[in-house]
Amino acid sequence: MCVITELLTQQKVAMTTRVSILVENTALMPGFLGEHGLSMLIEREGHALLFDAGQGLALSHNAERLGVAWERIEAIVLSHGHYDHTGGLANALGKAPQAGLFMHPAAEGAHYSRRAGVVRDIGMPPDVRAAVKARASNVVRTETPMEVIPGVWISGSIPRVKQGAPGDAGLFVDAGGMEPDAVPDDQALWMETGEGLVVLLGCAHSGVENTLRHVRAVTGETSIACVIGGMHLAHADAELVVQAADVLMSFDVRSMAPGHCTGLAAQCVLRERFRNGFRLCGAGAQFDFT
Ligand SMILES: [Zn+2]
Ligand SMILES: [Zn+2]
Repeated sequence: MCVITELLTQQKVAMTTRVSILVENTALMPGFLGEHGLSMLIEREGHALLFDAGQGLALSHNAERLGVAWERIEAIVLSHGHYDHTGGLANALGKAPQAGLFMHPAAEGAHYSRRAGVVRDIGMPPDVRAAVKARASNVVRTETPMEVIPGVWISGSIPRVKQGAPGDAGLFVDAGGMEPDAVPDDQALWMETGEGLVVLLGCAHSGVENTLRHVRAVTGETSIACVIGGMHLAHADAELVVQAADVLMSFDVRSMAPGHCTGLAAQCVLRERFRNGFRLCGAGAQFDFT
C-alpha cells in the first residue's frame, strides 16, 4: 500500500462521526423535550451540520442540553419543506448566521394535509419563509446530489422507481385538497464512515426503498451501516409495514434507528426483524460511527 493510501485509510478508520438526535417525537434522555418533528446534528472532524430543525418548540432547549456550539455549524440541510422539519429554522438560522442553507427548491412550495376531513397548511411557516428570503446569498437550492461538508452528502431528488411512501394519501399541494402532493422536495443525507454508509431520513416521502436505491446508485456503495430517521409508515397498514421491513433487510442494512413518522407499530416490527441492530431514536440519543 502506498504511503498516501495508507494515511488515508488510517484517517478513515480514525475518523468518528457522531449523529445526535436534537428533536424527535419522543425524549430519550432526562431533561429533553419531545415534539412531533425531527432534527439531527452531525459532527465529524471539526465539521458540524444540522439536518432539519424540528417544529420549533424543542430545538433551542434540547440543543442547550446537548451543549451544541451553534457557531461551529457550517451547514443546515432541509430534508423537505414540512413544518415539523422547518418550523425551528428561523431560530436555527439566527443562532448560526454563518451556516449555509441547503434544500431542494420544492421545499418552499405549498404543502397541505387532510386528516379526518380537516385541511391544514403543513408547509414552511411564514416566519421561516421570511428568514430563508433574508438569507438569500447563502441558500443553495439543488435537485442533484451534493457534498455539503467533507464526506457528507445530500441526495437531491429521489427517483420514484417504486411507488413513494405508503400513507401519503392525505397530502395535497392545494388548500382545497384536490391535487395530491408527492413531496418532490423529499431528500435524504448520507455519510461515508469506516463502517459503511450512514443514511439519515427526514420523512422518506419518496419511500425507503427508492431512497436506498438512489443512495446506492449515486455512491456505488453497498455497505449500509445504519439508517436513522422517519420512514413514514405511521399511516401504513400492517402488510405495507412488513414489506418495508423486507426491503430494509434486502439492502443488508446492519442497524437502524427508526423514529418520527415511522410509527410505533412499524417500530415494533422493525425491532423484531433487526433485533440487536435496532436502536431507539429519541431526543438526546447519540450514535457514533468510526
Ligand atoms: Zn415529518
Ligand atoms: Zn413530511
